[in-house]
Amino acid sequence: MPNGNVIRGARVGSAPPRHPERHRPVPCRSVSYWCRNGHRTDIRIVADVQAPTVWDCTRCGLPAGQDAQDPPGRARAEPYKTHLAYVKERRTDAEGEAILAEALAALRHRRGAR
Ligand SMILES: [Zn+2]
Repeated sequence: MPNGNVIRGARVGSAPPRHPERHRPVPCRSVSYWCRNGHRTDIRIVADVQAPTVWDCTRCGLPAGQDAQDPPGRARAEPYKTHLAYVKERRTDAEGEAILAEALAALRHRRGAR
């Protein structure tokens, strides 16, 4: 629970806490990523950390994945959808009617107020 006393035990001028184990070499492993341009990017990560599923290719910047045969971003592009299609995904017809009625009511109110 945060209590605003985050640096409890720290005094002005006190030395930072010592962690002698901090400088021991951490076991690492190498992970390879391939982008769809066939570039291979090797990164080294700490052994017990899960490798990210996607890494930006260091040569072309495209997203690269760990499966050389199936790099991310290949084809399977979403078919183009209109703005209306996206709206219809988010809202039912009934909700659309309600919003329209509300908008018309507001419009009429404004016109009637003149
Ligand atoms: Zn690349």
